[in-house]
Amino acid sequence: MNPPKPEQILPLLAELYQTTASQNEGRVASYIPQLAKANPAHYAVAVCFADGSQASWGQADLAFCLQSVCKPVNYCLTLEEHGEDKVHQHVGFEPSGQVFNALTLNSQGLPHNPLINAGGIMCCSLIRPQLKLPDRFEAITQFWSELSGGSPPGFDNAVYQSERQSADRNHALAYFMRENKAFPTDTDLEETLELYFQCCSLTLNVQDLAVVAATLAQGGKNPLTGQTLLQPRTLRNCLTVMATCGMYNFSGEFAFKIGLPAKSGVSGGLMLVVPGLMGLALWSPPLDSYGNSVRGVAFCRELVNRLPLHVYAPKP
Ligand code: GLU
Repeated sequence: MNPPKPEQILPLLAELYQTTASQNEGRVASYIPQLAKANPAHYAVAVCFADGSQASWGQADLAFCLQSVCKPVNYCLTLEEHGEDKVHQHVGFEPSGQVFNALTLNSQGLPHNPLINAGGIMCCSLIRPQLKLPDRFEAITQFWSELSGGSPPGFDNAVYQSERQSADRNHALAYFMRENKAFPTDTDLEETLELYFQCCSLTLNVQDLAVVAATLAQGGKNPLTGQTLLQPRTLRNCLTVMATCGMYNFSGEFAFKIGLPAKSGVSGGLMLVVPGLMGLALWSPPLDSYGNSVRGVAFCRELVNRLPLHVYAPKP
């Protein structure tokens, strides 16, 4: 069967936005003071299709901080720079089955995967380590601009300051990894953590994030610019870890029930990739007990209930 066309999908997305907007469960993240101030009523959804057509609903031009949604992009950068053999000498492949910031490493003393905090910190240590910190940060923002089709990401300085001041656990994770000799030699721990906090504080709106998701859905080719930004192997690896590890310790259930690569963050952002068809970005701050956006997960669940998009769903 031919995949559904944008004009067939758009009315469904509009309907799902309306129905899931009425979900009022969940609580905004409170692990840093700045996120505790988020407005629980905000809800935005955007889609970008393979042909570059776009649509959005809700507060789609309000930017929000990416938090863990930055992690798949950082992972891609490490793969492009070093290749998977080198990267996976420093980070594993398995879901951890634990909360995002659990003080735990795998049996080799490495972070379980690139999408939890320890793995996110590890990926930061691998991004252009030979450059000075401002240039490393610029390389990351440049890549986000290319992925989103030209809009440079913003930066939430208040979130960044808040992250730095509430970072005991992330410091503990970094020291634990250093004790286990998990980092590349010559890693500067403080710089690595700085870069990690800065990445978590990057901001995008759902419209731009949907283009990033659509780039991942389209074999690494940005549907707006036509630029190919990722090697096939990078894309395959990134989508695989998103499908297995992207939704905290709800990742197994998400893979079972929704069956699509995704990544969420504690600000309530969620990027969903429907390979070959479209990228979706959702943002709604109230979180469930796993740290995933309540409305975001409800939307994804309804979407695959209504269309056979689950990767293993029999296609009629
Ligand atoms: N900045 C957060 C932290 O490192 C990331 C949390 C998340 O979105 O998973 O604790």
